[in-house]
Amino acid sequence: MEKPCKILCSGDSLTAGYIPVFEQGFKQEFPDIDCEMVNAGVGGETSRQGLERLPHLLEERPQVVLIAFGMNDQAKGVSTVEFANNLSQMVSHFEDVGARVLLLTLNPMRRGQRDTGNARIDIYNQLIRDVAYEKCVRIVDVNSLWKREVKPWHKGLRDSVHPNELGYEVYCQALLGAIPRRNIIILWQYNGNPCECNYSCPYCTYDPRTQKGHYFKGTIETWREAFKKAFGNQFLAFYLAHGEPMAGERFYDILDMIGDEPNWEVRMTSNISLPLKRLVKTRVARERRLNVNASFHPTMTKIEDFLKQALFLREHRIEVPIVYVMWPPFFKRFEQDFEVFNKHRFLVHVRRFQGLYKGKRYPQGYTEQERLFMARYMDDAMIKYMLSWEPSFGKLTWSGVDFIIIDNQGNVGYCDDFRPDRYCLGNIFKGTLRLLSEPGPFPGRGVSDGTVDGLANFLELNYRQLTANNVIAFARQGGVYHTPTGVFYKNLHTDFQNGRIRAEYRFPPRNITDCYYILLCPAVSPDLKVKQVLQFLLPEVVTKKFSWTALRASLARRFPLARSIYKHLHEW
Ligand code: SF4
Repeated sequence: MEKPCKILCSGDSLTAGYIPVFEQGFKQEFPDIDCEMVNAGVGGETSRQGLERLPHLLEERPQVVLIAFGMNDQAKGVSTVEFANNLSQMVSHFEDVGARVLLLTLNPMRRGQRDTGNARIDIYNQLIRDVAYEKCVRIVDVNSLWKREVKPWHKGLRDSVHPNELGYEVYCQALLGAIPRRNIIILWQYNGNPCECNYSCPYCTYDPRTQKGHYFKGTIETWREAFKKAFGNQFLAFYLAHGEPMAGERFYDILDMIGDEPNWEVRMTSNISLPLKRLVKTRVARERRLNVNASFHPTMTKIEDFLKQALFLREHRIEVPIVYVMWPPFFKRFEQDFEVFNKHRFLVHVRRFQGLYKGKRYPQGYTEQERLFMARYMDDAMIKYMLSWEPSFGKLTWSGVDFIIIDNQGNVGYCDDFRPDRYCLGNIFKGTLRLLSEPGPFPGRGVSDGTVDGLANFLELNYRQLTANNVIAFARQGGVYHTPTGVFYKNLHTDFQNGRIRAEYRFPPRNITDCYYILLCPAVSPDLKVKQVLQFLLPEVVTKKFSWTALRASLARRFPLARSIYKHLHEW
């Protein structure tokens, strides 16, 4: 979010109506942002009149502009071609003075007998989406949110078109969701995936034989052009994380390309084993647009060497969180390592291990003791979603809206779990990319979103978009953060033996009392409630090795009384 921030709201009477509610909501949500709201909503105006008074609005020099026209255009007969053209011109003019522009869709109307009004609204909304797509600006999709939240629609209207208090709340909610999300985060597999890594960790998702090679395609200039064509002037955060990004042949060319564009920045996850002198001299680093997450891999490096590198980055004003994957053999050494990092005030971000170890599948295979141990050092969301493996299916997420993955051929996927081969949103070289306009349900069954940004995108978590270092920002919102003297770990003091707390953190039940708390807990989704309780009562039902004999044995074990009644009846 821009700081300080002048938000100019341009439009008709709907704009004039939503501003007071939005202004109040903004101040409550972002008390730390010094924001000036300019009300440029004039009742009865069409986009034609909005365009006429534009020179006067440009003098305001806003950082953010919200444009909401169309309700009067469709009623007063401004043609669709002129409407789209007017919007397009407004966007260009505001962008020329350096503003970030967002276009609002129109709210639904009260249904008439034949409902032609809403059919017209749909046409104008489609035009608004098309202009946003063409000009590469973001949509605030009031219409879709309204249809999802207000049932029946007319409950949010005070007359045929103007919202009442409830309707303006929808505007406020849509705006507060979209405005702070300045960046489009691109997980860019610039060197392919799998690709070169100078390590071969025993717990790596990839076979060490495939962690070899450089698969960058095209030229730096063709990529730069493709990004610009697909995303316009928007703020882009390139996330480099597959293999070892610094080991890629074109790594420094990529960094230079990003450094040349003031609206672009870099995030990367690296084992920081390669020389760092050149890295800290790049333009992105000097301008503090480079964020690094440092993964510590104890089987591949000595802690002293790793620490030296992390301290070097800190000297150059790059604060790194230490990413620590809890592979089962690391339990023995973790506390010792933690002490070293803690002494130097490094934030340690503990991650679950995913995969097979000694025939057990993780993270499901962690024992109760191991879970309790890890949870003490983890932030809230890591425990709930990653350690406890809460499925992501159906949760509303911003993934696909402003968080995407791009492979080395320009194909765009939904997130790290839904790469372009499974969920393709288009290709930036072919000009076919169409991002989603508003949060939708996560499409993957049996998947728990695997990245920090992916998790932070769930609406139910209500995390702000992660700016600067994404891992540090994520941990802070979940209770792990730097203090003037060290790093605070909220969950070091959480009582994970308490059934109520366990339910909230999605711990698997140990007994019937835990099941009771899970069923009562409003934070646990109905799907997870069923899964966890069933898993405890009848594990055979939820495993793949289902058999009737096993089920009967399990029932008999869990319910001895039922068993004796059954036996008695059977004999009788
Ligand atoms: S550093 Fe990361 S990508 Fe490389 S082998 Fe280790 S876990 Fe795999």
